[in-house]
Amino acid sequence: MGLCLSFGSASPASAALPGPAISEVAAARGSTGPAPAAAPAGVGADAGADAPGAPVSAGFDPDAAADDGEVWLEGDGSEGDAGTGEVTVVEPAPVPDPKPEPKPERTWVQHRIVPGESGLDIAERYGVTVAELKRWNKGYGKNGQLYAGRSLKVHARLVPPPREKILVKVNKGDTWGKIAARHGVREKDLRAWNKSVPTKFKAGTALVVYTNPTVDDEAAAATPGALPQFNVPRGGYAIGAPNSGRLAGGVQLPDSEMYKLRRPENAYGTSHAVKVVLESIARYTRDAKPDMPLEIGDMSKQGGGRLRPHSSHRTGRDIDIRLPKVGDEIDWRAAWILVRSFIASGEVTYIFLDYSQQRQLHRAAKAAGATDKELEAAIQYPRGSRTNNGIVRHAKGHTVHIHVRVKCAEANDRCASD
Ligand SMILES: [Zn+2]
Repeated sequence: MGLCLSFGSASPASAALPGPAISEVAAARGSTGPAPAAAPAGVGADAGADAPGAPVSAGFDPDAAADDGEVWLEGDGSEGDAGTGEVTVVEPAPVPDPKPEPKPERTWVQHRIVPGESGLDIAERYGVTVAELKRWNKGYGKNGQLYAGRSLKVHARLVPPPREKILVKVNKGDTWGKIAARHGVREKDLRAWNKSVPTKFKAGTALVVYTNPTVDDEAAAATPGALPQFNVPRGGYAIGAPNSGRLAGGVQLPDSEMYKLRRPENAYGTSHAVKVVLESIARYTRDAKPDMPLEIGDMSKQGGGRLRPHSSHRTGRDIDIRLPKVGDEIDWRAAWILVRSFIASGEVTYIFLDYSQQRQLHRAAKAAGATDKELEAAIQYPRGSRTNNGIVRHAKGHTVHIHVRVKCAEANDRCASD
């Protein structure tokens, strides 16, 4: 019991990131970039032994699978520990899409290093890899260190709008964390930018903030049905695979009227995953007009790693969401809108749902007007729980919640897809 399962995967789809036009220095057209397709053959989920990356085997034994539904009980946290059935559950890996991805156009830009910024921060900002940054820049410190104020040459795939350096005044009751959250930056970065400011500051103190400009809210609001924009701090990265890796710079899901966090201390994700989750849930909220907020289970701990009773949930890319209800029943109409909203992001690897529940989802999707083609792409049912079809995949015990796995951020070459 108490497992979250992890399966082999491929990530064939291309990820179109919006790329506004101006760089830090040079004005340039941003282009979209597809994700490289990585297709490991399949990775076992371990039930509790701290021996991740369990053996790869074909086939699936439903009886051996654990029940992840227990995650929704106020559990003892010991589920899935060694000795209670160490299970390896492996779905055959989906067949990777053989089509070559179109190569995105690139633009040379100069990046001025901001205090506290890491190579991975910069790489993700421009859709490149750390290895590439090192190749292009002899001045990348001998031991890989970066110096604030120096510039790096970047052959960028993505060109985000320039970051602005602004001064903000501390108000009464402000904390480092509150100010960081208000500006969509990490607290540790805010501190790094303001080394000369004492840890306990006074109201009226001015702090330096490097902000990523947000999309014009008024313009967004003027468009009917437009989704809200989320300013998610950068710097949260998956390192390794969902059931063996960790999370660097974890970004916490913010408080929201759209959902309730069951355990905020376990609600950390990658910057990319948090953005995908927020946007997808906003899309769901707009389209389903639910009476109740969603209930969010675990994502990852701040630094990722083992999060009992799950075997995955280690890199900030996995999130459990309780299926919406009407009264005591699952609201399949709303559940389909939720699933559809995540799929619409184009950034989801899998949505795990017990096969026994997929028929209901399938029916609701049909009733909502999904075409055969959409149904085929979205849901494994009715082709059998062992088949490599659809984004919605069987994982035993996922009967009252879905488990969404978000793709690796495109630029992060340290993230293993799985
Ligand atoms: Zn899960």
